[in-house]
Amino acid sequence: MPNHKIALLPGDGIGPEIAREAVKIFKLVEERNDDTSFTITEAPFGAGAYFECGHPFPEETKAVCDAADAIIKGPIGLSHEESQKIPVDMQPERGALLPMRARYQTFANFRPVSLPKALAHFSPLKPEVIGDGIDLVMVRELVGGLYFGAKEVGVNDAGLRYVRETLEYDEEQIRRVSHEAFKLAMRRKKVLHNIHKSNVLKSSVLWNEVLGEVAQDYPEVEVRHVLVDAAATALCLNPGQFDVMVMENMFGDILSDQGGGILGSLGLMPSSCKGPEKSYYEPSHGSAPDIAGQNIANPYSMIGSVAMMLEDSFGMTQESKNVWSAMQSVFADGFSTPDLSKPGAGVKMIKTDEFGDKVVAALAAMPRP
Ligand code: NAD
Repeated sequence: MPNHKIALLPGDGIGPEIAREAVKIFKLVEERNDDTSFTITEAPFGAGAYFECGHPFPEETKAVCDAADAIIKGPIGLSHEESQKIPVDMQPERGALLPMRARYQTFANFRPVSLPKALAHFSPLKPEVIGDGIDLVMVRELVGGLYFGAKEVGVNDAGLRYVRETLEYDEEQIRRVSHEAFKLAMRRKKVLHNIHKSNVLKSSVLWNEVLGEVAQDYPEVEVRHVLVDAAATALCLNPGQFDVMVMENMFGDILSDQGGGILGSLGLMPSSCKGPEKSYYEPSHGSAPDIAGQNIANPYSMIGSVAMMLEDSFGMTQESKNVWSAMQSVFADGFSTPDLSKPGAGVKMIKTDEFGDKVVAALAAMPRP
């Protein structure tokens, strides 16, 4: 019987609240699948880890992650004001998140942006713009570009403070994420939107060149090139034109948050981060300090990350589909967390743990895989 070792890093802010709901799903999936068990080991990560252990990515957490088959993490980070209490290099993204991405070389980040037509009322876009619903995947390069390049801070010859950050890609980094995007496009509609800024950035010129070479291996996929600024507008005006979008690290960071915006909430944004040996899974959003501790965060992003792990890391495709359906059924029954609806909009408002319990009940009622 396969035993899957999972590292669980609940994180900061709403992280522990939504991580609890993820654990409920793992437990039920284990009960429903006689041939599968999970060993879940929790470890500190993020700002809380810094205050508890003196480092946002402590050695003991590295050991837990190294030993795991897959990692699931909640969001990390504090409010802007609280972050100032942590030295710059120890702040959660610089001190924990980027080092984890580098450690496991999780080069391809998949962010589904999906809203069925029946849930169009959650979106700030007009129904006629949404049409048959929103269903696209952003593929973001995750371990290169500006976020990982050399940095320099100092005073220049004119006596002025300056900063220099480097945007660097080599062709192999571009090639490997391009292959992932083309493979995904082959499994979907065979259309790939390449998001770039080659009218200004030399890095995009190389990106497009290498992506064009990779395209030769996938002659059935139609490649459409869109400048990143135009893509931002197009996402609002006509999201239905996109199916798979591929882009470098910072473009993906920004555009995928916009993806959450057109759905109606970042709480609908799970993700998977694929590395050569292991993957980690996380909501695309941050730790939402504004709503932390109130049991009102939307756990869809975290439970969706569980569903992605079941399929991508453990090959449990049917059970993964069941988890997605169970979540959709909660919405279909007229319930949602407050991020997706205003009082009086006809939606029955529920708390984070109630959402998790309803997903559990819906999943438990489904035939076992
Ligand atoms: P955020 O994503 O935390 O929140 C933006 C808005 O979305 C807030 O109004 C928040 O309440 C809402 N939101 C986010 N997730 C939600 C959910 N599941 N349910 C309901 N509402 C949700 O962005 P921010 O406020 O700019 O950042 C807060 C902290 O998170 C910062 O320290 C930032 O650095 C960090 N951060 C971490 C990650 C990560 O761990 N991967 C990603 C982005 C930001």
